[in-house]
Formats: sequence, structure tokens, C-alpha cells
Amino acid sequence: MNETHDPALRSWVESANVPGNDFPIQNLPFGVFRCDVGRPPRVGVAIGEMVLDVSGCRSAGLLDREAIPAAEACGEPSLNALMALGAEHWSALRRQLSDLLRVGSTAARDAARKAELLTRRSDAELFLPAHVGDYTDFYASIHHARRVGSLFRPDNPLLPNYKWVPIGYHGRASSIVPSGSPVVRPRGQTKPEDTSEPPFGLSQRVDYECEVGLFVGRSNELGNPIPIGEAEDHIFGICLVNDWSARDIQAWEYQPLGPFLAKSFATSVSPWVVTLEALEPYRLALPARPADDPRPLPYLSDSRDRERGGVNLNVEVWLSSARMRETELGPIRLSRGNTSDLYWTFAQMIAHHSSNGCNLQPGDLLATGTVSGPAEGSGGCLIELTRGGTNPIPLPTDEVRTFLQDGDEVILRGYCDAPGRVRIGLGDCRGVLVGAPDFESKV
Ligand code: CA
Repeated sequence: MNETHDPALRSWVESANVPGNDFPIQNLPFGVFRCDVGRPPRVGVAIGEMVLDVSGCRSAGLLDREAIPAAEACGEPSLNALMALGAEHWSALRRQLSDLLRVGSTAARDAARKAELLTRRSDAELFLPAHVGDYTDFYASIHHARRVGSLFRPDNPLLPNYKWVPIGYHGRASSIVPSGSPVVRPRGQTKPEDTSEPPFGLSQRVDYECEVGLFVGRSNELGNPIPIGEAEDHIFGICLVNDWSARDIQAWEYQPLGPFLAKSFATSVSPWVVTLEALEPYRLALPARPADDPRPLPYLSDSRDRERGGVNLNVEVWLSSARMRETELGPIRLSRGNTSDLYWTFAQMIAHHSSNGCNLQPGDLLATGTVSGPAEGSGGCLIELTRGGTNPIPLPTDEVRTFLQDGDEVILRGYCDAPGRVRIGLGDCRGVLVGAPDFESKV
């Protein structure tokens, strides 16, 4: 840890000092924003209710030599160039931004205001943080794997490979959308038990999955696996991910090759990427594995990762139906989980993904899989919370939910807290499920 993590730091951006806000000066997450439609998007840093234009700080002469390569990369309309530079550059920029934004940096404050480098976040248009070349979704929560496995395969919930292999599948990058984008109800083939032929039509079992995404920073060369001890050097930061899932399509199509169209219709991500460096005060050891679980193979095993490979990150799912919004009822919380309940760490996911020589690239997105805990109510998706749709959830209107209805808004939230530390948040990941346009009349 360094001076940027000091819990005593305060910013001259007053809204950053409000307790419980997601973006205090200890956080400094990166995203891509635009405040003027005539200008191209560029990289900004969230601070309280504001966004700071990073390459604008460079133009205004507010950054020193060490941070220049990173600040120049922030003139791009995605984080990929910054991600490719590596931890030394991200860290140099973070130190200088922390210095520039803290109480006492009066000259920097006046210069930033004069050059109009701060925009209200609510006035800014936010984009996908990176161009995602490849997206991989893991299955790192054993609690999720057990509960969902027991619904899909009652006699065989946890497959024998689970405790050996960080299970994942290759997702679809083209349908990754930024928070706030509507999600269209998908169509597909399903196979209700009482039919002999699978009908094709709108999914009736649309679900969300609350996940954490990690963005790859520096790449590895094709053919060169990343040793687990170096895995975290390849991680730029994290965001929230909603892996929208059509359970009825999934149940019919997933064997033998895994998820396909049940997942590829949309994946939402939160707009701010919290760097691994910002997460440093909240790192912890994952709980010890039960004595009869296998030890991870050497390429997935690292003493430092055992000591601090976990993150004390709480993730919550909130829901509001269209009727709740019409009657001005706020969203309700459906669940809360924590990434320290995962079976596999970020480093193990990176090490495993590259272990066959596969190259990871700046901007690649790796998601954890649904973050679910052991406790009742900690399931990160509806199929867990409603036990396969048999146990409906009451809403404060007279509605109930088993799966999502058109007009439902799903809001993911995440935050880290630790004794003596300032709370930092990930910002919301939102999406409203909307009805699909006509298709039946065309086939
Ligand atoms: Ca998933």
C-alpha cells in the first residue's frame, strides 16, 4: 500500500468526501466518458459526483513526466491503450491524480477549474470502458455451481472436475453493453417436458447473474502461459457484470458444449474500472478448502495468492419493476454476496486461462461467474433465489417474481470495506429488460 490508500486523505471535490459514496479519493476508477457530443469520448476518472478529464490534465500541464505516457493513453476512446502499458504506468498516474485531487492542492484545483476538467457524472455520457476483444465467463462460486447444478442435474450437481479446474466458457464480446443499455428479451428453442418437439419463441425464464469482471492489462505472448505468481501483474482492474441468462434456452442447449444462445444476447458491465491497486486494502485470504478437497495443482497454487488472493467485495442485486417505478417505490434488494466466498481467485483464473498458451490481451474481460455465498439469500441469480422458479419473490406492489418480466430493472452494486479504511464502490451496473420486436410474422 502507499499514500494513495491513506484513509485520512480528502479531496477538494467535496462530494468525494461524503461517507458511503462510491468514489472517494482512495478509489480513482477509470472509465470512458463524453460531455459534449461534438467531441470524441476519452478516459476520465470518477471522483465523487464528478469526472476528471485525464488527458486534459496533461494538456493543462498538471502532470509530471512519470505519468505522461499513461495520461496520453487517456486521450483514447477506450482504456485499452492505458491497460497495455502495465502496472508501473497505472500506478504513476494514480499517484499524481491522488496528489492533484487532494485537499491542499490549491494551484491544481484552480487550474483544473479554469480548464473545465471536471464534469458532473450525471451530465456525462458513459461508454464501455474498453474494446473487449474476448470475453470469458468462469464459474468460480462453488455455492452457485452446487445450487444450479442440483436444479439442472438433481442426482449429480457438482461435476467431478469442479474442484480441479476453474471451469469457464468463451462468451460473446459483441453483445457486451454498458450499464443503462436496454436488454431485449431473447427468443430461442426450449424444450418443455410436456412437448415432443421444441417450440421456438420468447424466453419465459430470463434471469440475471451478478458477477465481477476483471479486465486484462498487459498481454502474454501466444504460447507463453502466465505463471500464477505473475498473474495479478496482468490484471488492470475490476467492474460489475450482469450475465443475463435465458434459463429455458440454457437447459435445452447446454449439453454437450456449454452455454451458447442462452447467454450471448447481452452482457452488461458497469462503466468504471476499479484498479487492482485501489483494491489493495481489501485483499484477504480465501477460506481454507475442506480437508478432503484436492489441493490445487502446482500451476494454480501460490503462497501469496493463498494469503491475499481474495477480495472483500460485497455485491448486491436490486430490482425494480415498471409498476414499482410508476408508483415511485424504490428498488428492493434481492441478495448480497461477497467475492471472498469464491472457490477460485482472480490469479487462478488468469493462470488457468493462459496455461495452454492462450494469449490474453489488453481489454479482454474475464468474469467470475455468479457470485453466490453459502447462506440463504446470497444467491446471485433468480434461479437460485426462487429455487428454479418454484418459490416466487414478493414485490412491494402486489406483484411476484420467479423470473424477470418486461420492464424490470436489475441494478448490481458492489463495494469494499475494511476496518479503518474508507469504503470504495464500483458504481451501478443497470439494465432494463424490454420486450422483443416482432419476429414471428417473418418466419
Ligand atoms: Ca455466468
